[in-house]
Amino acid sequence: MKTTDVLIIGSGIAGATAALKLAENPRRRIILVTREEDPHESNSRYAQGGIIGRGEDDSADLLVADILAAGAGASLPRAAHILAEEGPDLLQEVLVRTAGITFDHGKDGDVEYGQEAAHSRRRILHVGDGTGKAIMQGLIAALQKYPNVELLTDATAVDLITYPHHSRDPLAAYAPISCHGAYVFDRKGKSVHRTLAAVTILATGGIGRIFRNTTNPPGARGDGLAMASRAGARIVNAEYVQFHPTALSVPGAEGFLISEALRGEGAILLTPDGQPFMERYSPEWKDLAPRDVVARAIHTEMETHGYSYVMLDLASHMTPARIKTRFPNIYAECRRVGIDITREPIPVVPAAHYFCGGIAVDEWGHTSIENLYAVGEVSCTGLHGANRLASTSLLEGLVWGRRAGCAIEALWSADQEPVIPARNDIPGWDESGLTKDSDPALIQGDMQTIQNIMWHYVGLIRSGDLLSRAIRELRHLQNETETFYRKTKLSDGLIGLRNAVEVALIVSQAARHNRQSRGCHFRSDSVDGGDRLL
Ligand SMILES: Cc1cc2nc3c(=O)[nH]c(=O)nc-3n(C[C@H](O)[C@H](O)[C@H](O)COP(=O)(O)OP(=O)(O)OC[C@H]3O[C@@H](n4cnc5c(N)ncnc54)[C@H](O)[C@@H]3O)c2cc1C
Repeated sequence: MKTTDVLIIGSGIAGATAALKLAENPRRRIILVTREEDPHESNSRYAQGGIIGRGEDDSADLLVADILAAGAGASLPRAAHILAEEGPDLLQEVLVRTAGITFDHGKDGDVEYGQEAAHSRRRILHVGDGTGKAIMQGLIAALQKYPNVELLTDATAVDLITYPHHSRDPLAAYAPISCHGAYVFDRKGKSVHRTLAAVTILATGGIGRIFRNTTNPPGARGDGLAMASRAGARIVNAEYVQFHPTALSVPGAEGFLISEALRGEGAILLTPDGQPFMERYSPEWKDLAPRDVVARAIHTEMETHGYSYVMLDLASHMTPARIKTRFPNIYAECRRVGIDITREPIPVVPAAHYFCGGIAVDEWGHTSIENLYAVGEVSCTGLHGANRLASTSLLEGLVWGRRAGCAIEALWSADQEPVIPARNDIPGWDESGLTKDSDPALIQGDMQTIQNIMWHYVGLIRSGDLLSRAIRELRHLQNETETFYRKTKLSDGLIGLRNAVEVALIVSQAARHNRQSRGCHFRSDSVDGGDRLL
């Protein structure tokens, strides 16, 4: 058993930024856990395009207008203002000065701002096309300098410890739900420990892996969302799953993201026989239309004409030398699977990319449960509304990670220290009766079933019939999984499967409930025909 002032679950940009803020106070004790062996591994690690700065002819108001336009009427204006007003300065303070990240500069020595879809200005800071990797290296290195931060790897949070659920006091039933840490599975030692904390922050990232085609790495299976849901937290906007228009469609590299920045630099989408098509779907923005419009346009082209993919042509719009310096990782990965992007177009398909909904939080990252905060992709600040504007999510993780750290620090003062529950107040993890070892083949098979259901029935174009079918099949699978879970020794895969089916149901039910097409939630049977159709 461990005790700490603050338990942070997840070491991506959001969790790491919260930890950095809290660590500034040497009296504060922080435990940061990640289920990965390598603390850099996360969705943050794979971000390519970059993070929003403030461009040369740019302003907070212009950014707010772009966020609200992309959000299709469902973005919370206050959240957009917070991000636009605080984000660019915080980026300089945390990423440049504290984490020592050097964003790309042009030949004139000035910072080089990239362009991305639906941004009215060039304002994206990047480190080649490996921005997330540079950010994670800088943040984790900065954190490791603080002796009051304990970074635990190979540690999978299983469930939040909440009252009244885990309380031994019968009167706790009359109090609001509150969080006191988490049960954490040690992947190497294969045992579950209690980590008791005065405050807990969920920073577990996204849910892309519940879909068959996704740009997300294997850890993005919605663990934090499922834990919060089981604890009774409020979850909002779960139907808004953003599909990225362009993931590589080549065996051996499926899901590898082909950044929007390529279209920002002039790349054009073509049918396999070489015809541009985006002007028919979005005469104003063409290839730089918001993601939902581009993704559905590609989907429609593929469905209508039976294409397996469409093409993205960068070679005709950029010199080979520039392609290699601006997009070195994309160039190398495509080359690895036999495509030379300096000479030929890239086969691409849409893929699940980002979860716009999440655990409802306020301006400081506080959830509907006492002592529980959520930051980054697992949370819903309202910023993204029904559709995320490109490159806002890293900045959201930074801003709300910092804000949660500030809010938690403000809870305590010299004469009011954090209150951590006593060891005897919280029951240990009960493993009695667990006889079976989990079967990886069964877990993998069930996971693939979830991914196929979500892709075919809860994907880019939804309907009431498809969603009802998905919910029926997922409920059956959830019953099977729970029975299996009650009898089987814990493993990281089993924890993930249980969470994935729970999250798949949360998304499907929200999608069936919302009969109005908006942003990235598109229903062919929309009650009003949709806001932005093809
Ligand atoms: C390929 C790709 C490219 C992207 N490009 C961009 C971009 O250019 N710009 C942009 O702004 N956004 C981009 N995004 C989105 C952005 O990367 C994410 O939204 C953001 O990084 C999420 O950060 P986070 O800190 O919330 O979560 P993550 O970075 O995903 O971190 C989650 C953390 O939680 C841990 N975790 C999860 N479950 C558990 C558990 N049960 N127990 C313990 N630990 C757990 C993980 O191990 C990890 O440490 C991209 C995403 C992808 C996948």
